[in-house]
Amino acid sequence: MEGESKPPLFLIWSAASADTSFIFTTIRILLCISIMFIVLDQSRKVWRYLNSLLFSPPRRLLPLSDQKTLFLDLDHTLIVSLEEPPTEKFAAGDQIMLRFMEETLYVLKRPGVEQLLRSAIASNYEIVIFTAGTKLYASPVIDWLDPNREFISHRLYRDACTISIDGKCLKDLSATGRRLDRSVVIDDSPTVYGKHRQNVIPVSPFHGDPGDVELINILWFFEFEKQFKDLRLAVKNY
Ligand SMILES: [Mg+2]
Repeated sequence: MEGESKPPLFLIWSAASADTSFIFTTIRILLCISIMFIVLDQSRKVWRYLNSLLFSPPRRLLPLSDQKTLFLDLDHTLIVSLEEPPTEKFAAGDQIMLRFMEETLYVLKRPGVEQLLRSAIASNYEIVIFTAGTKLYASPVIDWLDPNREFISHRLYRDACTISIDGKCLKDLSATGRRLDRSVVIDDSPTVYGKHRQNVIPVSPFHGDPGDVELINILWFFEFEKQFKDLRLAVKNY
């Protein structure tokens, strides 16, 4: 507007400069806060890892045995636990309702569990449940699967797992005291066995379908493996 005096150029420049320096300072502060959170998070993971190394479970989790061993995972391999009652589609299968803490769980058994346990025992395997679930949760489920305690010799719960540097629960077969050439695992999460992946027969996760045939399809493995001295080779060629 005519008559209005414009501010001197150096004032405009210094105002713009002050705005820019405020933005840069804010970005620096935000960056510092982000880096601090990342460092804290990594430190927590390293601490958990060191903690698991220092207070890791004893190297031999099971009493000695020279028998062939079948390690079975629980959740999504032999059963599935639901917080809501199963839908009509899934209600036809074998199931039980369990109280866990303050919650009710609906536990569905995967078709073929009994046949699997019987086939393994008939082929002279000892059966070990190796689960990342807690004893409080998993123990009553295993009692339901093996009410007369005639199939399952040992139970390894979450405290038998080792913790990876990124906080994952790993199942270390070498800590069980079992020979790796005499051990087979059935699990829907084969990666948790790390370098012992070659012992694992992977299965797709069970979500409650009463028509699931995954375990039934595995039964012939117990006949097939008889031609191998090293069970890892049987798993590889299976
Ligand atoms: Mg599982």
